[in-house]
Formats: sequence, structure tokens, C-alpha cells
Amino acid sequence: MSEHQLHPADGDRARELDRLILHSWSKHGSTNPFTVARGEGVRLWDHDGREYLDFSSQLVNTNIGHAHPRVVEAIQRQAAELATVAPATTNLRRSEAAERILSTIDGLAAVFFTNGGADAVENAIRMARVHTGRTKVLSHYRSYHGNTGAAINATGDHRRLGNEFALGHVHCFGPFLYRSEFWATSEEQEGERALQHARRVIESEGPETFAAILVEPVPGTAGILVPPPGYLQGLRELADRHGIVLILDEVMAGFGRTGHWFAHQHDGVRPDLVTFAKGVNSGYVPVGGVIIAEHILGTFRERPIPGGLTYAGHPLAAASIVATIDAMTDERIVERAAHLGADILGPGLRALAERHPIIGEVRGRGCFWALDLVADRGTREPVDASVVARLKALLLERGYVPFTADNRIHVTPPLVMGDDDARVGLAILDEALAALGSP
Ligand code: PMP
Repeated sequence: MSEHQLHPADGDRARELDRLILHSWSKHGSTNPFTVARGEGVRLWDHDGREYLDFSSQLVNTNIGHAHPRVVEAIQRQAAELATVAPATTNLRRSEAAERILSTIDGLAAVFFTNGGADAVENAIRMARVHTGRTKVLSHYRSYHGNTGAAINATGDHRRLGNEFALGHVHCFGPFLYRSEFWATSEEQEGERALQHARRVIESEGPETFAAILVEPVPGTAGILVPPPGYLQGLRELADRHGIVLILDEVMAGFGRTGHWFAHQHDGVRPDLVTFAKGVNSGYVPVGGVIIAEHILGTFRERPIPGGLTYAGHPLAAASIVATIDAMTDERIVERAAHLGADILGPGLRALAERHPIIGEVRGRGCFWALDLVADRGTREPVDASVVARLKALLLERGYVPFTADNRIHVTPPLVMGDDDARVGLAILDEALAALGSP
């Protein structure tokens, strides 16, 4: 990438004009000093030409990396050919996008397209409610499902608070051994007790009132909480026993992030509905959707789905999906994520934990990892937000773009990252943690 295309004055202008925007989840005027001008592969550049390694994938989104030539070319070609078409119109690119998505998952029958992740969750819940004729949705505390009506009500973190206006949302604790609600001392015990808890909640609320169990197969924003073996299968059995629809929210974990096309494929569980967005086209054009099992689809042969969006199956999104999934297949990118996790990131992050007592736990798989930072390893007390803010600044100074949440650093690079870049990132993390000193 040549630096002559970047002008420091543009950075100043971007920051100045930034006050014209009220940013998501932000106070107005709390401008981020880091401006992003260009991206290529796993690298980003600011307007001063400073280079950064992207260890965030821009909110765990760009699995295939920035400016992948095949995806860029597909979008450009499609824009010239047909940039928009009404929903419910047949279009080859749209049909091919559905075909490619269904090729990554066994046993599901059709795709419903949305604009992003939240409305994917919204529509999955709607499908489950129409299909079952019931209302309630069971989801996890420690989850994030999006910032629209039912999706934010299903979310189990602080962002739900103040947004609660929908009835019928019930929460339970999913498994999380490091901070167990169940006094469990092993993964197996944690999984069993969390299942027992979910069972009790459903029985207490009335199993015949539940339309859906909605969970992230690996809760992402909540801390990359890989479930114990058997937990998702246990939810499947619980759903089957009571005629409840199992919705797996793969918006963040899907499309290769964990080293399989979908996170739930590690557990061999069969979902009824799968929500997706982000990795399906690496975020090049906003898109999301729901993948639907045959028996649920049957409901919508008898009556129309009461939902639709102008941009559903947008041609630019469709073209980018086809190109992304083809490139991921040809370049064996999902296998690359599995390799990075097993051979570089997993061992590298565990080695960091041996040197830095601030790391209480390392969790994850594939290119989906979290460092749980603690003030005290004995009590597992999370570090203060100011510690994470300092670490973030130290990482940015060293050319590393992190994703941070609460007391955690999430290590979520594009899946196309080379082994050497991954090692450079680990070395920067090591240095920044050392510079941070004791919490
Ligand atoms: N579900 C999950 C699991 C997510 O991680 C997210 C976004 N981080 C969403 C839903 C919402 O997606 P969007 O921001 O595209 O609406």
C-alpha cells in the first residue's frame, strides 16, 4: 500500500467533522483519536500513514480481511450490472447467495435475508412465534443479540436495561466455569448444572409458553464463553421435549471464526434456525439473515411470513456473499482459522498468561479468543475499566488494534492472518502488558 494516497490533513478533517455524528453506544463528542483511512488484508492505516495490525476484525466482522480483491471486484461488477432490486424479486445473484450459504451447513433448507444481525434475530424470533403460536423466549444472561426490539430484550447484558419494553423474555445463566453461578469445579459439572438451571426456569415459567430458546453457541461480546461439551445438545433435547424452536445466533461466531463454518458444528448439534451476518461477507456490505430448517419453512408455505425489508437480499450484498464464500472455500480460510487457533494464538496466549498475572483466564478457539483480566488471580476480581483503557492505548501506540469489552481484551484477528503477523501481535501484547505493570 503506498502512503502517498494518505494525507494527515484528512485525519484532522475527519476528527473535526466527527462531531456531526452521534456514534453507536457513545456520548456525543467523545471522538476516537484513531481514524481509519485504509485497510488491506490484516492491516489498517490512519491518515498519517501509520500502519496497524487489525486484531479486532472491526467488531469481529471482517473474517476474510480488508479489501479482498475477489470480493471488491464482485461488488464493483454487481454495482454496474444491477445495484438494487425489490425484495421478493427473483435475481440470480440473490439465489446464488442463498445456495452458497446453505452449502456451509447441513440439514437446513432456506435463507431469509435481513440488513444485519439484530434484524436477523428479530425475524428468527418472529418465525419461532408464528411457528409455535407461543410467545416466550429463553436466552442467556451474558449474551448480546442486537439493538432492536426483541433482540435487545433477549440480550442479557447491561444494554438491555432501560430498553425493556417487550413481554415474554426470560433469561437464564449459561455455563461459564471461571465465574460459575453454580459452584461448579469442572467443565462437566458446570455444563450439567447450567442445563438443570435452564430446565428449571422453563418448567417454572410453563414449557408450553416458550416459542424459542435463543443462544449464541459461543457467547462472543459476553466474553467468548466456549460451552462445555454436551451443553448445546442438552438445550436441543430440552427444546425437543417441549416443542420449542432452537435458535442459534451465529452472527459473531459464524462463517469460520471458530475454525468451523459455524460454532455449533463443534458440538454436532442440529439447530432449527441460525442467525448470521458479519462473516457471511466480511462486512463489505451490510447484510444478515436467518437459515431455516425444513419443518419451520413448512409453516411459511401455508401463510406468508409477516416480515420483510426493502434491502433484503440486496444485490451488492448477494454478490459479496458469493465471492466471500467462494474465496473462503478456495483459499481454505476456515482451516486457516483452526490452524491459527490451535498452533499460534492458543499456545501463544497461554504463554502470555504464564508471564502476566493480570491474565486470569485465556478462553477461545480458532480466531476467537478472550483474555479475562483480573486485579487478583485468587479472587478473580475483574480489573477496572481504566486498566483496559490504558492497555488499549498502549496497544494502539504499538500498531495493534484491539477489541476490548468490560475487563477483557478479545483477540479476534481476520482469519487470513499469516503466522508471522500473529506472532508479531502476540509480541506486541506481551510488551504492552509489561508496560502496563501490575494492575
Ligand atoms: N448477535 C450477535 C451474537 C452479535 O454479536 C451481534 C453484533 N455484535 C448481533 C447479534 C447484532 O448484529 P448487528 O450489530 O449487525 O445488528
